[in-house]
Amino acid sequence: MTLLYYDPRFLEHDTGQHPEQAERLRQVVRHLENTGLLTECERPTWQPASRERLERVHEAGHIDRVAAVATQGGGRLDADTVVSPASFDVARLAAGAACDAVDRILAGGAKTALCLVRPPGHHALAERAMGFCLFNNIAVAACVARDEHQLDRILIVDWDVHHGNGTQDTFYADGRVGFFSIHRWPFYPGTGAADETGVGDGAGATRNLPIAFGTPRQTYREMFRRELEDFAARIRPRLVLISAGFDAHREDPIGSLGLEVEDFAELTKIVLAVAATYADGRVASVLEGGYNPPVLAECVQTHLRGLLEAGV
Ligand SMILES: [Zn+2]
Repeated sequence: MTLLYYDPRFLEHDTGQHPEQAERLRQVVRHLENTGLLTECERPTWQPASRERLERVHEAGHIDRVAAVATQGGGRLDADTVVSPASFDVARLAAGAACDAVDRILAGGAKTALCLVRPPGHHALAERAMGFCLFNNIAVAACVARDEHQLDRILIVDWDVHHGNGTQDTFYADGRVGFFSIHRWPFYPGTGAADETGVGDGAGATRNLPIAFGTPRQTYREMFRRELEDFAARIRPRLVLISAGFDAHREDPIGSLGLEVEDFAELTKIVLAVAATYADGRVASVLEGGYNPPVLAECVQTHLRGLLEAGV
C-alpha cells in the first residue's frame, strides 16, 4: 500500500510570479487523477507539524519570523523565498505530511509514501529560510523517526538538482541519519563538494556526488547506483527518505542535468532496491523541486508508479 499526501491548501502558499508556484501541484494532481494513479493510493488525513517537532530542526526565532511575516500580510525572507498570509500554516502542513508518513510507515500500515507538498524544504536551515524553502520537511520527518521511534539508522537520498544544504547541515554531526545527495555542481547553493563527508559522530555519514553539466545520463545513473549501494551498505538504514526533486530533467527551466522522465523511474527503482535490502522496503518520498509543471507531472507519475509497485 502507498500513502499519498496532498491537500488543496498547499495551493494557498501564494508566491506570485515565481517558479515555485501553485500551478506545479495543480498539474501534478490533475495528471495523477487522469491516469487513475490517485485512486490506487490511500489518502490519509494528518495534522500540521507541531512546534515541538519543528524545533528539533529549526530555531524558535526562525519559526516566529515565518509566522510574523505571514501574519503581517506576507513578504520575502530572502531574495527568492516568499511568504504569503497562508504560508506559515501551509508550511506546517507540508512538514506534518512528511512526519505522518514516517509515523504510519513505522507503525507498519504501509511500506511506501509520497508527499506532494509545497513549499519545498531541503534548503531551509536551522536559523533561516532559503531557496524557496521555509521549513525543512524531510529533516523534521527524519527527526521524528530518530527521536520518537528511536530509529538509529535512517538514510535520506536527495536527487533534486540542487544540493540539499539544509538537510546536510542538520545531520552533519549525526551518525544516525545518513545523507546522500547527487546534484549539479558547481551550482546553487554552492555547497555539496565531494569532500563534505560529515564531522564527529557524523563522520562518513554524508556523501555528496557533484555532477558536472553535460555528464551523460547513463554515467549519472551508474554513479548514482554504485555510490548509493556502497553508502547504504555502510549506513544499513531501517528507513529510507527521498528528497524527490525533478529539476534535473532536461526541460527544467532552472535546473537541468539532461535527465529524461524514464531516468526518474530508474532512480526510484535503485532506491527501492536499497530499501528492500536493509529497511524492509520502507520508503517515504517528499517532493522538493521541479519547475516545468507538465514535465513535473510526468516525472511524479513515473515515481509514484514505482512506489506503488513496490508498496503492495
Ligand atoms: Zn532544486
